[in-house]
Amino acid sequence: MNVNDISLEIRAVAEEAQAALAQQFAKIDSVAFKNTEKVMLAFQNNRVGEACFAGTTGYGYDDLGRDTLDKIYADVFNTEAALVRTGFVNGTHALTAGLFSMLAPGETLLAVTGAPYDTLRRAVGIGNPEFGSLAFYGIKYSQIDLLPSGMADIPSILAALNDKCVKAVFIQRSRGYELRRALSVKEIGEICSAVRSVRDDVYIMVDNCYGEFTELTEPTDVGADLIAGSLIKNPGGGLAPMGGYLAGKKVLIERAAARLTSPGIGGECGASLNSNRQLYQGLFVAPHVVAQALKTAVFCAYVMEKKGYRTSPAYNESRSDIIQMIQFNDPNMMKAFCKGIQAGAPVDSYVSPEPWQMPGYDYPVIMAAGSFIQGSSIELSADGPFVPPYTVYMQGGITFESGMLGIMLALSGM
Ligand SMILES: *Cc1c(COP(=O)(O)O)cnc(C)c1O
Repeated sequence: MNVNDISLEIRAVAEEAQAALAQQFAKIDSVAFKNTEKVMLAFQNNRVGEACFAGTTGYGYDDLGRDTLDKIYADVFNTEAALVRTGFVNGTHALTAGLFSMLAPGETLLAVTGAPYDTLRRAVGIGNPEFGSLAFYGIKYSQIDLLPSGMADIPSILAALNDKCVKAVFIQRSRGYELRRALSVKEIGEICSAVRSVRDDVYIMVDNCYGEFTELTEPTDVGADLIAGSLIKNPGGGLAPMGGYLAGKKVLIERAAARLTSPGIGGECGASLNSNRQLYQGLFVAPHVVAQALKTAVFCAYVMEKKGYRTSPAYNESRSDIIQMIQFNDPNMMKAFCKGIQAGAPVDSYVSPEPWQMPGYDYPVIMAAGSFIQGSSIELSADGPFVPPYTVYMQGGITFESGMLGIMLALSGM
C-alpha cells in the first residue's frame, strides 16, 4: 500500500477536514510564531555563531557550543540554568537525574498526578527498592491520583504536604500512555500555587515530555523549579540524534549534572563530538515542528470522530501535549490503522506491524513507526496495547503533509 492507493473519496475527506480545521490550525500557527520568536531571541541574546557548532572531543572542557546551548535552554524556559546533553540516553535518564537532584535519604517524593510514566517506576523503586533506585537510597515515595475529572486533587495534595518529610512534588504534564488527559500549563500553575501556599521548602518538578512548545508558556513560567524532557521528542525538532534536557534552579541543575557524570565533574565535562549543530537547529525548528505534530493530531481526531470513533483530546479541545488517543473497540480496525501509519512512513514503509509480547508488558503491543531517528516520537508513530478497548496513541509528524498522508493511508487500510 502506498499513496497511489489513496482513493478520491479519502482525498475529498482530507480536503473537507482541512477546510473545517482552518481556525484550529490558525491558533496552532500563532502559538508556533510566538514560540519561534522566543527561541530566536534566545539564540541572538546568546550570540550564537559558527564557533558554537564545532564540537569537542575527550573530556570536552570549554565546549562553547554545549555551554551556550545550556544558556539558550535556560532563557527559553525562563530558568536560572539548564543541562542539555547527548550523554542523557533518553528522557527517563534526564528525569531520573532530576529526581535525584531534589531528594536526600529519609525524604519523600510526592507524585501528585498519579503514578509516574512507566519507565520511571523502576527508577523511583515503586514496590521494589532495587539497587540504585531512589527507594534503595532510602527516599520514600507517595502518590496522589488525579480526580475522575482529570483535575489534580488539591485538598489531598495540601493534606499530604503536612508531612514535613515531603521535599519534592512531581507532576506529569502529558497523558503519557494513559487514558488521563494532559494538564495545561495553567493547571500546573494552580498546583504550584497551592503547594507554595503551604510550603516554601519543597521542590516542584514537572515531567515535560511531549509538552514543550504546545502552549505559549512552560511549567517553569508558572512556578515549577525543574523540568525535564527528551530530545527525540518536541525540543529536538526531529533533528537531535539523541539526548535529554533539564532546566530549572541552578542548585538542582548542578546536582543533576553531578549525577549524570560524577561529583566534582558535573556539567563541565562531556564532549559534544559532532552533535551541536543538530541540537541547535533542532531547537530552532522545534516550535514549528511541534505545530506540525499538533495539526496532524487534530486532523486525525477530526477524521476519526467523523468515522464514529472516540478520541481524546477531541479535535476542538485545547492541547498541552502532542498525543492523540483513538479508541477502536475492534482488533482488526486497530491493526489496519497501525499498518496504514507504517505504510505512510518514509523509512521502513515496507514492513507490516504485528502485535507482539514485548518484554516488560503484560499484554501484546502493536507499534507503527518509521523514523529517521530510532524510536523518535516527534516523528509520526502510533502504538497501543492490543487488548480491549483497542486504544491507539498516535503522536508526531515532522511535516503536516506527511502526517496527513499517514492518516489518509490508515483510513485507506481500514
Ligand atoms: C517519553 C516519556 C518519558 C521518557 O521516555 P524515554 O523513552 O525514556 O525518552 C517520560 N515521561 C513521559 C510522560 C513521556 O512521554
